[in-house]
Amino acid sequence: MAKECLCQADEIVVFPCSGGSNCGQIANDVAVRLTEEGIGTLFCLAGIGAHIPGMIESVKSAKRIVAIDGCSAACAKKTIEHAGLNVTDYIDITQEGIAKNKDFKLSQQDILFIVKRAKQELAKER
Ligand code: SF4
Repeated sequence: MAKECLCQADEIVVFPCSGGSNCGQIANDVAVRLTEEGIGTLFCLAGIGAHIPGMIESVKSAKRIVAIDGCSAACAKKTIEHAGLNVTDYIDITQEGIAKNKDFKLSQQDILFIVKRAKQELAKER
C-alpha cells in the first residue's frame, strides 16, 4: 500500500509547460496554486531548458520533480529529461480529459480538477 509523501514543499519542484493553449496555461495556474498552498515550489522550466548549471543543481537535490504538461507533446517532461533529470510525477492534461484549444478564459473547474490530480500523484510514495 502506498504511503503518503512526507516531503517538504521546497523538496518538491513543479514544472508546468506554460504553453500557448488553454491546457498549457492551466498547467501554469495549477503550479502556482500548488506553490501558494505550500505543497510544492514552482520552478523555471526555461532555466532548465537553457541548462543553467545552478538551476539544474538545485533541482537535483529535490525529492520529487513534478512535470505538468498541457498535452502529449510533453514539452516540460522532455525539457527536464534533456537536462539529465528524472521526472517523478507526471500529468498530461489532455489525458485527464480536458481538450486543448486557444481559449484563454480558463475554466476554474478544470484548474481545480488538475490541482486535485496533482495532489493525488504527490500522495503516492515514490
Ligand atoms: S506540452 Fe503541449 S501545451 Fe505544453 S508547451 Fe508543449 S505543445 Fe504546448
